Amino acid sequence: MRLDPTCDLVDDARQVSRTRAGLGSGLEIVIPGPLKDIWTNVPVEEDFAARSPYLLVKDGSGYEIRDGRSGAGYSVRIPPEPRWYAARTSRGTEMRRVGVLQGTYLGIYISNACLYWYSSPPQNCAFCTTGSNVGVNEMASKHLDDVVEVCRAAKEESGVTFVHFNSGYQAGRDLEQAAPYVQAVKERVGALVGVQLMPTPELWKYDQLIDLGADHFSFCYEFHNPEYFARYLPGKQKTVGQETFFRALEYTAKLLGKGAVSGEIIAGVEPVEDTLRAIDYITSVGAFPTVCVFRPVIGADMESHPVPRYEDMRPVFEHVYEACKRNGIPIGVAPNIEVSLICQPDDTRYLAHPGPTTWIYETQLKLMRRVARPIFRRKIARRTARAGPGALERVC
Ligand code: SF4
Repeated sequence: MRLDPTCDLVDDARQVSRTRAGLGSGLEIVIPGPLKDIWTNVPVEEDFAARSPYLLVKDGSGYEIRDGRSGAGYSVRIPPEPRWYAARTSRGTEMRRVGVLQGTYLGIYISNACLYWYSSPPQNCAFCTTGSNVGVNEMASKHLDDVVEVCRAAKEESGVTFVHFNSGYQAGRDLEQAAPYVQAVKERVGALVGVQLMPTPELWKYDQLIDLGADHFSFCYEFHNPEYFARYLPGKQKTVGQETFFRALEYTAKLLGKGAVSGEIIAGVEPVEDTLRAIDYITSVGAFPTVCVFRPVIGADMESHPVPRYEDMRPVFEHVYEACKRNGIPIGVAPNIEVSLICQPDDTRYLAHPGPTTWIYETQLKLMRRVARPIFRRKIARRTARAGPGALERVC
């Protein structure tokens, strides 16, 4: 999207934040709609954005996107920066350097930058910019007390219900590093806790992490086609392998039940048929697909890779809805979790093909939302972990 000079984003918007893999490197906007509002993160700084037909204009106190092809315009909301971003923890750390809102949830990168960036030659994923971001825009390693205070501020001031911990490759210590954070948020703050880490073949560790408080796991295997996986994810190919992602995804989906685990993939690089196969596979094991549209981020190895075409992406997202419906995956049931970096399955309801199966699925979802309310209320409350802090350290 292009920005008109009328825009006053310094005062009105969340700062464009170049953190982690770089997928959040755009402007957060909310597109209001009758089924639900859609939160999205729009690239505005990359070269390809300058060629976009979409122009963001400030009109009075509101914002509007104008489509240069048709002349159509529609209102959007620009979520402001939360006040707590500028506050400091009792240890003196600026809160925005500990965690950031990505949509309505709090994302925290828990530890030092991904080790794929430090091997020689580097084995980083080709679309990623983590190596140049962590430590520059946010703290390289997060103190437990800082994390707790930031989660508390995000919960109290921004109504956050979901905290998502994420980390790059940590040489097999990935889950161990996350464990104390998961436990602390569950016990000292109270929130739904998600974990996105490199998968492990030691599947028992997932049981322990659930006992400590994890409610959700997501597995970024990015490409379903094994050749693309190997070509663009050299570190993941060498140290973990695609099969480990699949086994961990299947295991945790079985443990946590339908709709609690996600498989994260990138659309727009591998052939669309492979992306559709990924969506079918993920939903067939009871997980939900989180699909990122490929973004050639400034500074990534794939910076000059072509951007995907709208015509190719639309069927992908139609397929997300149809596959979730076919497999009875509960979507949009958890309270107040809007994700801007990926397209949530719930967002694809706008692309549903009308008919009796859609009507039945939508009715079931409505019911599930009602039934799930008290369950989520309990899950969001503070509670003591069922496992001790050393749960993941046992020798197996
Ligand atoms: S695992 Fe890949 S995408 Fe994740 S931080 Fe490391 S290089 Fe980036």
